[in-house]
Amino acid sequence: MYDVVMKQFEHAADIMNLDPGVRKILSKTNTEIVVHFPVRLDNGKIEVFTGYRVQHNNALGPYKGGLRYHATVDIDAARALAIWMTWKTALAGLPYGGAKGGIQLNPKEYSKNELERITRRFTYALGDNIGPDLDIPAPDVNTNAQIMAWIADTFSSTKSPSTRFANLHVVTGKPMGAGGLAGRDRATGFGVVSTLKSWSALKKQPLKGMRFIVQGFGNVGYWTAHFLLKEGATLIAVQDASATLYNEKGIDPEALLAHSDANGRNINGFAGAQEMDPKAFWSLKCDIVVPAALGNQITEENAGGITAKVVAEGANGPTNIGGEAILRKNGVDIIPDILCNSGGVIGSYYEWLQNKRSEIWKIDEVLVMLHDKIETAFEQVVSTANEFKVDWRMSAYIVALRRLETTYMERGIFP
Ligand code: NAD
Repeated sequence: MYDVVMKQFEHAADIMNLDPGVRKILSKTNTEIVVHFPVRLDNGKIEVFTGYRVQHNNALGPYKGGLRYHATVDIDAARALAIWMTWKTALAGLPYGGAKGGIQLNPKEYSKNELERITRRFTYALGDNIGPDLDIPAPDVNTNAQIMAWIADTFSSTKSPSTRFANLHVVTGKPMGAGGLAGRDRATGFGVVSTLKSWSALKKQPLKGMRFIVQGFGNVGYWTAHFLLKEGATLIAVQDASATLYNEKGIDPEALLAHSDANGRNINGFAGAQEMDPKAFWSLKCDIVVPAALGNQITEENAGGITAKVVAEGANGPTNIGGEAILRKNGVDIIPDILCNSGGVIGSYYEWLQNKRSEIWKIDEVLVMLHDKIETAFEQVVSTANEFKVDWRMSAYIVALRRLETTYMERGIFP
């Protein structure tokens, strides 16, 4: 992923003739934190875990980005994802920089109590490297509102009692009772569908009646399916880490979610669809493809089979460079990740603002603001693509890099 993100950055920097000094700054990450920390497991034995937090750039505001609990988390993955966050927050016009991190583990191997101890000890190990005005983590793969609540509680409990409530917004994506925002849970999937609505209006291709497939049935995959169904589209296939399911008449995402929740967050064994060969997933005949799992999933090996009109990148970095070239050659539109899944970080921004102002916002107003912000970003990406005669991924980068360049030019470099 790191190679992909750097190639994309270099290409955009060349096209827009980015200032050489700013280019040098943005080519590097500001801070890279690796922590090893011990946790006592339920069986009484001690295990030492490795956690990461990479802070890429904070020219526009505090670092912002998710924490991932997955076996593939390492320093390169954290770097790549942190860099993407810088572009994403800049593109959305948010006063944030970019960061990412996580712990290299498979959370399914640990009990809830163990995950709580792991999370709290990781938070303690990060110490003052995170903070509500410094670096604000959020959920990502295998982390959720509960984990954010443990982080907020640990971080604020290890500070002076007089600052406890000024520290709870050290993370976003918290549960409602712990200062969360109404609608943050669905913000990313809602945003994915907002970008698809903009795409549909631009291309004069109604979403109603379209068939779609989703890879990943976690937070992003489920909510995207939920909102696309409201537009009159039909979910015909879902793939997660446990199975690939198909039903040409349509899969009900609500029934699938209920099944998955009761089945350890796995979709296998769902009665409302048939299992199919995972290799045939990407070449299913459909109109919309939504990768909403991990990076590097659409590659030179499978991109040729995709006949959909559009790929909406719910995941971060789901399409590699070779896969992207094939999609473009075949005329498949790509709504790039830093635009497509930016609803999550926009929702996080509203949660942070709500906490800072000690307010409680209503879900309807949150979703209206979120839709407007993504629509604006989509329009900027389309107009910049026309200006530079580039694809939407490049133009999304250019919009983001222009903002960062302007900030550096106006503010200068200390000392
Ligand atoms: P999640 O943990 O809720 O769900 C991940 C899903 O991916 C699960 O269904 C899992 O089974 C599936 N998966 C894992 N490995 C797979 C594999 N090899 N093949 C097929 N499916 C696999 O995670 P999420 O929060 O929904 O995040 C999904 C993606 O969206 C990630 O790339 C993440 O960085 C990105 N993203 C998430 C948010 C957010 O707000 N949660 C925001 C922006 C981007």
